[in-house]
Amino acid sequence: MFENRAEARIDLSRLSENIELLKKTSKTKLLAVVKADAYGHGLVEVAKSAETAGADWLGVALLEEAITLRKNGITSPVLAWLVPPGSDFQSAVNLGIDLAIADIRALSEVSQLANKPRIHIEVDTGMSRGGFLNEWEEFLTSDFSKVDIVGIFSHFARADEPLEKQNSDQLNQFKKMVSQLEAVGVKPKFKHLSNSAATLMNPDATFDFVRTGIAMYGLSPDVKTLGDSNKLSLKPVMQLRAKLHLVKNVPAGSPVGYGATQVTNSATKLGVVAMGYADGIPRTALNAGVFVNGRKAPIIGRVSMDQFVVDLGSDSSAKSGDWVIIFGDGTRGEYTADDWGAASSSINYEIVTRIGPRVPRIYAPHVY
Ligand SMILES: *Cc1c(COP(=O)(O)O)cnc(C)c1O
Repeated sequence: MFENRAEARIDLSRLSENIELLKKTSKTKLLAVVKADAYGHGLVEVAKSAETAGADWLGVALLEEAITLRKNGITSPVLAWLVPPGSDFQSAVNLGIDLAIADIRALSEVSQLANKPRIHIEVDTGMSRGGFLNEWEEFLTSDFSKVDIVGIFSHFARADEPLEKQNSDQLNQFKKMVSQLEAVGVKPKFKHLSNSAATLMNPDATFDFVRTGIAMYGLSPDVKTLGDSNKLSLKPVMQLRAKLHLVKNVPAGSPVGYGATQVTNSATKLGVVAMGYADGIPRTALNAGVFVNGRKAPIIGRVSMDQFVVDLGSDSSAKSGDWVIIFGDGTRGEYTADDWGAASSSINYEIVTRIGPRVPRIYAPHVY
């Protein structure tokens, strides 16, 4: 049996603990957001596990993602919200997939299908991204007899900054648009607005279900404003590990990597880690690294396509073939997805969703 050179270990028992906590916090139903391969954790495995853990709904961006769920035996309600006109709406209806409708053109396309497509009306309450805005008045005069309007929803732009006035503005605007819809005789069963940050910070916005993504994966929606996973009692689901391809001693003054952007300060031991930017390690990362033999070893030089170099320290006992932790939950002192986000001027969301397809996902507990 060969071992992998790198792996993302996904502990689904942590996913269920996070779902339990989020359900307890929101006191309402929960839609598990599994778009983008379940934020890099594996679409089908996460969806099945979320269903078992008590998620009432599943949510994806793309119709293809929703179809994959149905083809793999997922029977819970599924909502797809990035479905432009021209999409294969008939397949969606045949598979019992709910569709977000954000413009009149999409409404007229779905209205031509048999079997009353199930739709959720998306409204723009102030983010200027998805949802009805300028077409709203005209939309309210539409013929709704060919569709089943199951829901109405919107999305927060700044839920991770709970004190920002935009949150209450968006909430008020949402309530206003719901009443305008009700005034023309349409009363959707499900109103939904909250993402993870709002689920944790804004109980007034929970309505009939919350749509949780990042927090379900055990990560903080914003480390600076809300604190880290530990502070929020969330359990990071993914641990990323790789092997040291090579370990070598080098003298002081050795230039490391493409462009020789860094040079060793003193004689040291370098480790070559078998993952690179093709696997989702950000090329720009500075001040992150790996955890090996109980301590951190920082990146030195630029990240390459398939590998990067860390400074293990001259006294390190690490050997080629040893496993190192790229990120974990941080409890043993290792780097976290939050650290890698900060190290690359990005966020934990981007770190986990960009772990590439060459990295096998292993559904098992984390190892140290
Ligand atoms: C991605 C997404 C979410 C989940 O956001 P998190 O911050 O990960 O909880 C919820 N709703 C919509 C419409 C989304 O696109």
